Amino acid sequence: MAEKLRNCQNCGKLFMSQHGEKVCQACQDAMENMEQVVVDYVRDNPKCKIHEIMEATGAPEKLIRRLIDEGRFVQVGVQMSYPCKKCGKEIFAGQYCEDCLKEMQANLQAAHGAMAAAAEANKVHGMYSKELQRKL
Ligand SMILES: [Zn+2]
Ligand SMILES: [Zn+2]
Repeated sequence: MAEKLRNCQNCGKLFMSQHGEKVCQACQDAMENMEQVVVDYVRDNPKCKIHEIMEATGAPEKLIRRLIDEGRFVQVGVQMSYPCKKCGKEIFAGQYCEDCLKEMQANLQAAHGAMAAAAEANKVHGMYSKELQRKL
């Protein structure tokens, strides 16, 4: 990727983005420091909850959730639980609990089924009308 001058998404400062980075080096370093602080805190306090980490380290929830998604706490031997985005049940991975995932999958399949049926109906309908036109 070509070098590009852009504004840091975090502090707004102009910087040279060499590989498509969205934040400047200073913010990048600060973020990595913050990640390390959070990971260290969780390792020392394996039973802590997200809001406790936020209070103790000052890290935003977004960063903590990203670290969970990336499995950074699992790497230091901590199974971090957090609420399912949909129903609030405690989960250990992903964004939703198993029940919500199943429900969403079922909904998705139902939507796909309806779409396929509609497409099929259209096709049949189109064939018939062509047939009809030929006869006319
Ligand atoms: Zn910055
Ligand atoms: Zn759920």
